[in-house]
Amino acid sequence: NRQIVLASRPTGAPIAANFSLNKVERPIPQQDEVLLRTVYMSLDPYMRGRMSDAESYADPVAINAVMVAGSVCIVEQSNNDDYQVGDWVVAFGGWQDFVISNGVGLIKLSDQLPNKSYALGVLGMPGLTAYMGLLDIGQPKAGETLVVAAASGAVGSLVGQIGKIKGCKVIGIAGGAEKCQYVVDELGFDACIDHKAADFAQQLANVCDNGIDVYFENVGGAVFDAVLPLLNTCARIPLCGLISQYNATELPEGPDRLSLLMGKLLVKRIRMQGFIVFDDYGHRYNEFMTQMSEWLLSGQIKYKEHRIEGLEKAPEAFIGLLKGENFGKLVVRVGEE
Ligand code: NDP
Repeated sequence: NRQIVLASRPTGAPIAANFSLNKVERPIPQQDEVLLRTVYMSLDPYMRGRMSDAESYADPVAINAVMVAGSVCIVEQSNNDDYQVGDWVVAFGGWQDFVISNGVGLIKLSDQLPNKSYALGVLGMPGLTAYMGLLDIGQPKAGETLVVAAASGAVGSLVGQIGKIKGCKVIGIAGGAEKCQYVVDELGFDACIDHKAADFAQQLANVCDNGIDVYFENVGGAVFDAVLPLLNTCARIPLCGLISQYNATELPEGPDRLSLLMGKLLVKRIRMQGFIVFDDYGHRYNEFMTQMSEWLLSGQIKYKEHRIEGLEKAPEAFIGLLKGENFGKLVVRVGEE
C-alpha cells in the first residue's frame, strides 16, 4: 500500500520535499468495514490550505499524515452489508492505494456512469461548486454579463457554460492563448482574455462594454483589480476561491486598496459572498446531479480532464496546479479500473 504523506509544511509554493511516498502494510477491514482500492484521485486547489497550519474552515493535515483527497474507489473486501465487492464509490480516501471505510460518507456510483472519474469533476465537488455558486449566489439573468476567472479549469469551465445556458454574455479569463481559444471555440464562451497579456485590464474593459453583472471569483489578485472598476450597480460576486494568493507569505505590495473596494461595494450596492461548497450546499447534491447529468448527456455541457498516470506523480501535478499547468480538471489514475 503506497501512501503520500505531508513531510513538511511549505513556505510559499509547495515543493517536492514537502511530500514523502511511504510503503505500508495493506490495511485489513474489521467488522462493518470495507477495504477500498483507489482508482482515481482528485487534485484540487484547497489542498494547499490543508498543507498549512493557518486557521481555516478545515483542520490542517498533520505532519506525516496521508494527504487528503476525494477519490473514486472499488470495494475490494466487504464486511458491511451495504457494500458488495466490486461496487464503485466516491470516498474521501486520500493520496493512497488502499483505505478502510465504515461506509459513512461514501457515495455509491451508478453502473451507468461511463467515466467513473467524472464523479470527481463535472458530476462531483467542482460541479456542485460551479452550479450552486453561480445559480444561488450569482443569480445570473438572461442578457447580463458574467465574467469568470480560471475559465478553462474544473469550476470555471462549468460556470461559464451554465451562464450560457441561462442566456448571459459570458467572458472567461484564462492563462495563455491555447486555454483562451479552447474556452471560446469548444466551451462556447463569447470571449476569453489572457490574464498574462500586458494590456489584460484594457482588453477586459473592451469586451465588457456593458460592465459586469456577475463576477465568479476563483483567483483574486491582479485579475480582481481589473474586474473591480467594471462592476455594475447591484453586481453579484460569488467568492469561490483566491488561488493567486494561496502560496502568498505576506500581503501584496503596493498601496492598500481596501477602502477602494469597500467604497465600490457601498456605492454600487454590490453583494460579495463567500461559500464552502459542502458546508453550504451539500444538502442540494441530488438537485445538482439530476440537472448536470442531463446537461452532460445532452451535450450542453462539455468537460475536459487533465489526467496524470500514477500516484507517485501527484506531488508534481499538484505543484503545477497552483501555477496553471493543468488544462482541465486534474485527476490522477492511481490503479486499474
Ligand atoms: P482549476 O482546474 O481551475 O485549476 C486552477 C487554475 O487556476 C489554474 O489552471 C490556473 O488557470 C489558475 N491559476 C493558478 N494560479 C493563478 C494565478 N496566480 N493567477 C491567476 N490564475 C491562476 O481549479 P478548480 O476549478 O478546481 O478551482 C478553481 C477555484 O475554485 C480555486 O480557487 C479553488 O480553491 C476554488 N474552489 C472553491 C470551492 C469552495 O467551496 N469555495 C470548491 C472548489 C474549488 P490559468 O492557467 O487559466 O490561469
